[in-house]
Amino acid sequence: MGDYTASAIASICFGKAEPVVDGNVYRVLARVFGIATPIDSTEGKKVFRSLAAELIAKEHPGDHNQAVMELGATVCTPKNPRCGDCPLARKCIAKAEGRIAELPVKAGKTKTRTRHFNYLLIETKDGIYLRKRTGKDIWQGLWELPMAETGKALGLNQRPAIADSTAANSSVDPPGRPTSIQQGGDS
Ligand code: SF4
Repeated sequence: MGDYTASAIASICFGKAEPVVDGNVYRVLARVFGIATPIDSTEGKKVFRSLAAELIAKEHPGDHNQAVMELGATVCTPKNPRCGDCPLARKCIAKAEGRIAELPVKAGKTKTRTRHFNYLLIETKDGIYLRKRTGKDIWQGLWELPMAETGKALGLNQRPAIADSTAANSSVDPPGRPTSIQQGGDS
């Protein structure tokens, strides 16, 4: 479990003063306080986390965390933030200094690529088949339906060519022959 989930559970379910710092929170804090330290740097993570810990309401930390996340998601959005509706507008340094568009700062842009995962829902009387993701890839250790990764998106009636699968996580069996996947369900 990562910091984000742990802090969310601790504050929302158990009333602990643990700040949640997600992308929305980084953006709100960077703009309100005019902080240009890159949010994806080690120093930035420390600075923002420590500021969030300083600010969190000790009485209702869960409500506080949810309010800041919600503000970032609905008002202080990445593009065209609704500053006219923002309760923090009078204190916002980015707004006062005309720096909204440049905050938050990111040091390195994350490279993205499109991947096509084709999931197979295989049901038996005992439940559905699931498998655990292993190997060096996303969602490591999590459970999922059997899947075949393909190089391009498939049409609704196309079956994935299993031999071409580039899924590096574990072996993938053809639909209807789930011999090496593990079984989930209530049994
Ligand atoms: S005033 Fe604008 S930029 Fe500043 S926190 Fe509010 S919505 Fe974001």
